[in-house]
Amino acid sequence: MFDFKLNDTVIMRKAHPCGSDRWIVVRVGADIGLRCAGCGRIIQIPHSQFNKQVKRILPHSERSS
Ligand SMILES: [Zn+2]
Repeated sequence: MFDFKLNDTVIMRKAHPCGSDRWIVVRVGADIGLRCAGCGRIIQIPHSQFNKQVKRILPHSERSS
C-alpha cells in the first residue's frame, strides 16, 4: 500500500498520451482523482487500479513550515 495525500505527485508506470508520467492527487476516496501534470486532464481510477499502476509517490511536503 502506498501512503499518499491530496496534492502529492505520483509517478505512474504508464505515461499519459501527452508524454507525462506525473500526476497530482486531486481526490482521495473510493476512486482516486488524478490531474495530469503535463496536460491538466483529470482522470478517476479505482483505488485497486491506482495501487497497481503507481510507481513512486513524491510527497507534497518539502515546502512546509
Ligand atoms: Zn497528460
